[in-house]
This record gives sequence, C-alpha cells and structure tokens, in this order.
Amino acid sequence: MWIKWLLIFIITAPAWGYNLTQDFLNGFYWATLPINIVVEDDNSSRKNVLIKLAEESIEEWERKTGLTLWDLTASGSSNMIRWSTNFAAETKMDPNSVLAVAIRYTNGPYFARTEIVINGEHYLNSDLENLKTTITHELGHTMGLDHSNNMLAVMAPTLQDPYLGLHNDDVSGMVEAHSQTENRQLTRYISPLAYEQKTESQPLSCGTIGPTSALGANAFLSLSLGILIGFVRKLWSWFKSLI
Ligand SMILES: [Zn+2]
Repeated sequence: MWIKWLLIFIITAPAWGYNLTQDFLNGFYWATLPINIVVEDDNSSRKNVLIKLAEESIEEWERKTGLTLWDLTASGSSNMIRWSTNFAAETKMDPNSVLAVAIRYTNGPYFARTEIVINGEHYLNSDLENLKTTITHELGHTMGLDHSNNMLAVMAPTLQDPYLGLHNDDVSGMVEAHSQTENRQLTRYISPLAYEQKTESQPLSCGTIGPTSALGANAFLSLSLGILIGFVRKLWSWFKSLI
C-alpha cells in the first residue's frame, strides 16, 4: 500500500511554484513599505483609467495577502507606472511579445526606485481586463516576485487571458517576499553585493510575455493542462495495475 501514498504524494506535491527575483535573492529590499507609487501620464483620461486599474490590482493583492504593499495616493514618488508609445526604444524589449516591464533600481542595500513601463502599442493592452492583469503581474515584480512555474499564477510568464484571479501560489510568493523584506528591515541587513553595483543600475528588467504562439496564451495554458492531466491519468492506471 505504501506505493499508493508515494504515488499520491508525487502526483499532488507542488512540483512547481513561485520564484523570487535574482536581485531580491541577492539581498536587496525595500527599506520601507508600502511602496509609494504614482501613475504618470500626460493624457488625463488614460491616466485616470490606469489609476483605477492599479487601485483594483493593489486592492486584490492586499486583500488576498492581508498585507499593505503599495500606496498609490502618495504624490511626488519617483516610483511610477507609465504608458509607453515607444516601448522598444525605451526598454530594448521586443514590442511584439512583451506587454510591460518592471525595472527595479538599487542604491546601496536597498531598492531605490521602481518603474512599470506598459507597452502601449501592444493590442492586448488595449483590452482593460488584460491591461489590469498586466499591471497586477508587474506589481508582483516590484516586490521581488519573479515568474512562477505555476501556469495558473498571475506571475506565470504568459498573460492570464481571461484573468482567473490571484492564485494561492501568487499569495504564498508575496507573503514570502514580504516576510523576508520585514526580516531584513529589522536586522538592517546589508547584502555583500550592496556596494558592488552602481546606483541606478538595472539589475533586472522583467517582461510580461504575451502569447507565445499564434494560438495565444490561452491555448498555451490549455495545452499545458492537457498534457498534465494526460500524464496523471497514465500514472494512475499504472498504479491501479499494481494493487
Ligand atoms: Zn514578468
């Protein structure tokens, strides 16, 4: 019978999940939370839309984690969410496959500034639901969450379309990033790498990747699930033949 439990464990054990960004793993962190962040846009109606979507994204992250992570009401912050109509030139990323980037700058042991640049020329960002998903994903990066291996997470490298809501994996990752940040703040931790990097360097710029094929992100997601379910069924019938 032990083999039954071993198989159940193998099948149900979380074989994949959230990841923290390399700069966060290297010991960089926000000196204070929440992160004050503003929406910058010359176009006032678009600015209002971005503010509303960012408010909803922040509300969801904070409600599901029980944490206070970002403050969108503080003015004058150099942390910003902005719409770019010149994405390729500004970020050096492929404008056809990347929906947005979150850039984190460091100064000494800390994250000094973060900027979310949204690819305004990508058709997926012209859909408000997708745009909100993009913002939710990029906000995760600002706290040190990297791409998750869980394809159902909003932190998965491909866009959730339609949006399924924050996954438990997203919540666990954020709670972990927050807890490590608090510990570092309490101990005034200084990474051995803190003064090896220049101020305003760009340790990582991370993109939300759009659909990876002509089938679109949704098709990719379904395909992954299809393969997984097929695999579990095969294992299960093998297991049943043993008992
Ligand atoms: Zn990303």
